[in-house]
Amino acid sequence: MSPVRRCSRTACGRPAVATLTYVYADSTAVLGPLATYAEPHCYDLCAEHSERLTAPRGWEVVRLADGSAPSRPSGDDLEALANAVREAARPQERAAQAGGGNARAADPMEVARRGHLRVLRSPDS
Ligand SMILES: [Zn+2]
Repeated sequence: MSPVRRCSRTACGRPAVATLTYVYADSTAVLGPLATYAEPHCYDLCAEHSERLTAPRGWEVVRLADGSAPSRPSGDDLEALANAVREAARPQERAAQAGGGNARAADPMEVARRGHLRVLRSPDS
């Protein structure tokens, strides 16, 4: 097992209970269940810091999980949503790496044209 995750705030060593994910494309900060993996745009927060969380001006904060609200959807759903958000945050990293090359080469998926073919109905039925 990995060691206990700690709050990422400076001078705060409390155990982390939530993970904050910044989705830069949408100017949204998503506070959700503690992430399974540490990722570049994620910051673990302790209970106190997640409670006091404030987003930069112009940003929206989405709280996926609230420990004091048991009437929420199942943890699996929330975690799936949080993971989806984290997935969505990834492509822009790749986009930043892409050198803007000429990507308009022939599409390898287009194997053959079928415009002149006809579909015949099978006689046995
Ligand atoms: Zn903290």
